[in-house]
Amino acid sequence: MQYISTRDKNTTYLASQAIAQGLAPDGGLMTPAYLPKLPGKSLSDLKEMSYQQRAVYIMKLFLDEFSVKELTEFAAAAYGPEKFDTPAVAPVSALDDGTFCLELWHGPTCAFKDMALQMLPHLLTASLVKTEEEKTVCILVATSGDTGKAALEGFKGVDGVSIGVLFPDGGVSDIQRKQMVTTTGDNVQVWAVRGNFDDCQTGVKHAFADEKFAEKLLDEYRIALSSANSINWGRLLPQVVYYISSYAELVAAGKIEAGCPIDVCVPTGNFGNILAAYYAREMGVPIDRLICASNSNNVLTDFLSTGTYDRNRTFFNTISPSMDILISSNLERLLLAITQEDSEVRGYMEQLNA
Ligand SMILES: *Cc1c(COP(=O)(O)O)cnc(C)c1O
Repeated sequence: MQYISTRDKNTTYLASQAIAQGLAPDGGLMTPAYLPKLPGKSLSDLKEMSYQQRAVYIMKLFLDEFSVKELTEFAAAAYGPEKFDTPAVAPVSALDDGTFCLELWHGPTCAFKDMALQMLPHLLTASLVKTEEEKTVCILVATSGDTGKAALEGFKGVDGVSIGVLFPDGGVSDIQRKQMVTTTGDNVQVWAVRGNFDDCQTGVKHAFADEKFAEKLLDEYRIALSSANSINWGRLLPQVVYYISSYAELVAAGKIEAGCPIDVCVPTGNFGNILAAYYAREMGVPIDRLICASNSNNVLTDFLSTGTYDRNRTFFNTISPSMDILISSNLERLLLAITQEDSEVRGYMEQLNA
């Protein structure tokens, strides 16, 4: 499986390079060159598996440089009883006969981001070994609350990696702030930024795009920057797993027949979570409608209903700060999936920046 940038399909990367680098050098997002189809019988095979086994089965389709043995160890460590308070990891509960809730809050920080951020450190450290890079990695994270605490929890104490988190001062809940500023571990650092989430994210993106800074860091300190935001493929892939798993759960519990279409509704911010559902659908899960839910920062719902992405609008601080985002990074991956044209995506992103 090869990876490409959303803005340049002529340069290809291995999975380990995509994960170790986080962002492509041209500012685009690392994306699989194609989406593998789930083999015919997989949904019924998956029905019989544990969550950990499903994770190995699905991630392996995208990570051919990683052995089943490696992935099995990662899944056991990431989703084991020390981290998750239910053996089902991501159980599906019924709200009524036709509505179900995928419970993604059973991890160590109660954020759904634990699903990905318990796995990412394993994928990243293994990727660094595979790319044979003699350097340590500094993860820079922009957060509106949940990503920061889940990333700190995932990366604290991990060898060869340090992590710095930027959050908007006053823009996260008190619990989230406390979870972040009280994280233990001597490889962690947390900064409050005077601004909103987009300011934090733009700051991180500028740090990544600054080649002189990157050179200096690498030459003088042997440090490379990387990302734990959902712009990193290693963060997105574990999210594809729970959509496929949830379908298998519904079939296993006799709630739906195999093949029966379902709709998926996702509260959306940076477009990572719902994009993972889109990828699951492209891989062959019978998902009919994807419903993108927004709060008053409804730049995405406007885009999907009108075709115009207008970031020039009032920013609202709401009670769901993880959705208070006007520049939704992962939309770029959807644009590539739909247009199949890197030059077209590059043009759109340039227009958006201007
Ligand atoms: C992260 C988060 C979101 C947004 O998810 P995206 O993948 O960024 O779209 C929505 N709600 C909560 C509670 C979150 O933590």
